[in-house]
Amino acid sequence: MIYSSEAIVLENKDYGEADLIVTYLTKEFGILDLFAKSPRKIRSKFGSSLEPLTYSKISFIGREDKLQKIIQSDIVYPFHKIRESYKIFLKLSEIIRWIIQFSPKKEKNPELFNLMLTVLKEIENSNKHENYILFFKIRILSILGYLPDIRYCGGCGKILNGDHYYLKGFIFCSNCLSKQGIEDRGDKILDQYIIPKGVMNFLNSFLKWQLIHLERVKINEKLMNQVESFIKKHISLTVKL
Ligand SMILES: [Zn+2]
Repeated sequence: MIYSSEAIVLENKDYGEADLIVTYLTKEFGILDLFAKSPRKIRSKFGSSLEPLTYSKISFIGREDKLQKIIQSDIVYPFHKIRESYKIFLKLSEIIRWIIQFSPKKEKNPELFNLMLTVLKEIENSNKHENYILFFKIRILSILGYLPDIRYCGGCGKILNGDHYYLKGFIFCSNCLSKQGIEDRGDKILDQYIIPKGVMNFLNSFLKWQLIHLERVKINEKLMNQVESFIKKHISLTVKL
């Protein structure tokens, strides 16, 4: 049986002397590892279509419980400009690692596929790529269920207002933080757990934004860094990368 799908290359790894294992995000089958015979040889029929981020139409064969083999790969759009910018590519690589690590293999996820394709197109054509990358990062974590609940307290479940604290993957109100044994005794211990108000407000509204907002908005650099470091802390505490 021959299978076909639109697909975006997430990464490729050398396999033997001339072969590759390509990890795709496919529209029809979710994340797939596929075997490509001899693409590293000169005059390979695959050309540059197996490079990370390439959007192509692929066909592959083989039993579903085995490593299936790519027989055709036609580029729809190469996303050259993104790949040529080391800075952008590096930032996207981090998100791609999350996608590979956090999403189950062979599980169709149209929302994930459409998000990635749309964001790549916007990044390729816009100079507001930092906004799009942040949007991509937060939406991916939200779709894959890795964003902490930012509306309700992780302890009592009440709507969060006032100060917010981050502990062990959850956001707590001050009451629930003290139930975790952390209380302010004048020693500023809470400072290390508090989430800046700006970050919470930003996340709350950012999740409701549409792509069209990103072209217009200038996100303050300090806030962008605070949001980035909050996400980084959350990921490093909840997942071992
Ligand atoms: Zn609470």
